Amino acid sequence: MSDFEKQYYESEKFWSGDVLQDEMNRNRISFTASLIPPDVKSLVDVGCGNGIFLNYLKANRAFERMVGTDRSEVALRMVQAEKILSDITQLPFANSEFDCATCLEVIEHLPQETYRQALKEIARVSAKYIIITVPYNEDLLETQTQCPRCKSKFNSDLHLRSFQEKDMQALFLEHGFECSGTKVFFPFKRNVGAKLLEKLEAKEKFQSPICPICGYENESYEAWSPKMMEAHVNAPGIYNRIKQSLKKVWPKETVPGFWIAGIYTKK
Ligand SMILES: [Zn+2]
Repeated sequence: MSDFEKQYYESEKFWSGDVLQDEMNRNRISFTASLIPPDVKSLVDVGCGNGIFLNYLKANRAFERMVGTDRSEVALRMVQAEKILSDITQLPFANSEFDCATCLEVIEHLPQETYRQALKEIARVSAKYIIITVPYNEDLLETQTQCPRCKSKFNSDLHLRSFQEKDMQALFLEHGFECSGTKVFFPFKRNVGAKLLEKLEAKEKFQSPICPICGYENESYEAWSPKMMEAHVNAPGIYNRIKQSLKKVWPKETVPGFWIAGIYTKK
């Protein structure tokens, strides 16, 4: 992986503040926590980021051992549990060291070689269960952004792959785990054509802390947060007022879920 891509995840703005603390993400975390089988006594969260999941677990369920691992030093500072800086392709744990390995919103970011090795490593360190969550059926083109300097286009969250039920079911087959179920969760309604509108509006805006290709640093980057959303909705101007009124009466469609979880059991 490029140094610039690494730098992306060392961005303080990306991990801190109220980022990922909105209702939607809180819902994601509590739902995922509810999937952990009752007999799990030890757990490792691979790619734990700022500890949003571990910190929730710490407050809500007792484990004999709970460890987070991530390659971002900045993110790990926010984790309130045992934590280890490490690369996902070489987890610093023994075979079957934990009852359960979780990996939330991580594997969609991984390029092919890292992806293959990461799945192998996650399976290696788990004795019984694996829980994976990723965005459900994401249209990667909808969320592309363009670097103003080198003009490269990439997914603004650096997502490289998209998952449906069949992809989730097959994830660990070659590593000795079978899928005991997939769950699409957090259904939501959105205006028909909303994604297209967002795309048109965001066209001029570079939505990334740094360009992973050329390293261009985005001084005005702000990670998505509930506060930002509020400012967006209440932005001044006649155009915005018309838009917000139109949104209320515009036809809506239901999306079956924002995320999908896969639960795996050792064969
Ligand atoms: Zn660039």
